[in-house]
Amino acid sequence: MTQDTSSQPKSPLAGLNLNFLAPEPGAATTPREQTASEGPVAARVVIVGSGPAGLTAAIYAARANLGPIVIGGVVGGGQLMITSEVENYPGFPDGIQGPELMDLMRRQAERFGARIVDADVDRVDLAVRPFRLWAAGVEYRADAVIVATGAEALWLGLDSETRLRGKGVSACATCDGFFFRDKEIAVVGGGDSALEEALYLTHFATKVHLIHRRDAFRGSKIMQARAGSHPKIELHLNRTVEEIVGDQHVEGVRLSRTDQPGEETLPLEGVFVAIGHRPNVAVFRDWLETDEKGYLRADGATTASSIEGVFVAGDVDDHRYRQAVTAAGEGCRAAIDAERWLEAQASQNASGSAVAAPGGMTAAEMVR
Ligand code: NAP
Repeated sequence: MTQDTSSQPKSPLAGLNLNFLAPEPGAATTPREQTASEGPVAARVVIVGSGPAGLTAAIYAARANLGPIVIGGVVGGGQLMITSEVENYPGFPDGIQGPELMDLMRRQAERFGARIVDADVDRVDLAVRPFRLWAAGVEYRADAVIVATGAEALWLGLDSETRLRGKGVSACATCDGFFFRDKEIAVVGGGDSALEEALYLTHFATKVHLIHRRDAFRGSKIMQARAGSHPKIELHLNRTVEEIVGDQHVEGVRLSRTDQPGEETLPLEGVFVAIGHRPNVAVFRDWLETDEKGYLRADGATTASSIEGVFVAGDVDDHRYRQAVTAAGEGCRAAIDAERWLEAQASQNASGSAVAAPGGMTAAEMVR
C-alpha cells in the first residue's frame, strides 16, 4: 500500500534480534559529504540509485571490498519509500513498512563500508574509463558503474489521487491486491497492465470496474478477451476519472463520459491506476542502449549494458516483474558482474607496472 504513514501498525521487527544490523563500534555511519572544491572522488564502483537494486548491489560490492559509493538521490530509497505495508518481501512474515525496509537495507550496506551520498546524478560521461559522474557539483570517477535508478508509475494527476494514495489508491496490484479481499474496486487504464491487473485482482475483489478513456483497449487481443468475458469484471469505456471520492479512504470514483455529456459515481473501496511506468533513464539515455519501451537494455544473461563496465539493475531495465525482491536480485547480480569484470580487467593489466588506483586517479589525487 502506498503513502499511509499516519497509521503505523506495530513494528514487524518487534522482538527480533537485529543487533547484526548495528554499526561496528566506532564505525562512521554518516560519512562527511564531499564538496565540489575538494575535487573528484574516486571509487572502484559507483552505484546510482538507492532502491532495493542499488542498496543490494552496495551490500555485495562492499562485501567484495570494492568500496562502493552509492549516489542515492535527494529522495532516496525508491518506490518503497512511498509504500506502507510490504507483505511479499521474504524474511518478514508479519510484513514491514516500505521505508523501514529501505532503512534496514541502507544500514546493512553502510555496515560493510558502502558510502551513500544523498544527491541526484545530473550528468555522466561514459565515453572513456574511468567513467565520470556529477552530483551536487561533485565529480565522481568510477572504474565500474551500476545503474539502478528504477522506474516510476504514472499517475492520473488528480489531487484526490495523491491524497488517497495508500488509503485505497495504488499503482501495484501485485503489491496491494491482497488488501482488497472481498471489496469492490476499480482499475484505470486500457493497456496490458490494466487488463492484467484487473484479471489478477479478481482473485481478491468481489467486483473489478475496468475504466478506460477510449472505446478500444490498447492491450493485446487475448487479454481483452479474458478481461471482457470475466464475470467479475465490468467494463466502463469512454470514461475518465474526474475525482476519487473519499475523505480518509477511497469511497468511490466520479467518472465523466468522453463520448457524450454525463457523469456517474461508482461506490467502491480501491482504485488501481495502471496507465504505465516511466523508467528513470534521463542522464543515461544518450549513453546506454534502451529497448523499444525506453528501458535500459541489459544483455540478458548478465546485467551488462551496452557499454563495457556499466551494469544495469532493477526496474530501470525491467518492465515485466517490477518487484522489490526481483530488483534486489538484480542488484546482487550487477555487483557480482561488476566484481568479475573488474577482476578480469585487473588481470589483463597485471602485466603492466603499477596497480591502478580506483577511478584511474593518481596517488597524489587519492591522498585526501
Ligand atoms: P500502455 O500500453 O502505455 O497503456 C497505458 C494505458 O493507459 C493506455 O490505454 C492509455 O490510454 C491509458 N492512459 C495513459 N495515460 C492516461 C491518463 N492520463 N488517463 C487515463 N488513461 C491513461 O502501458 P502498460 O499497459 O503499462 O504497458 C506497457 C508495455 O508493457 C506495453 O507494451 C505492454 O504490452 C507491456 N505489458 C505486457 C504485459 C504482458 O505481456 N503480460 C503486461 C503488462 C504490460 P490510451 O489507450 O487512450 O492511450
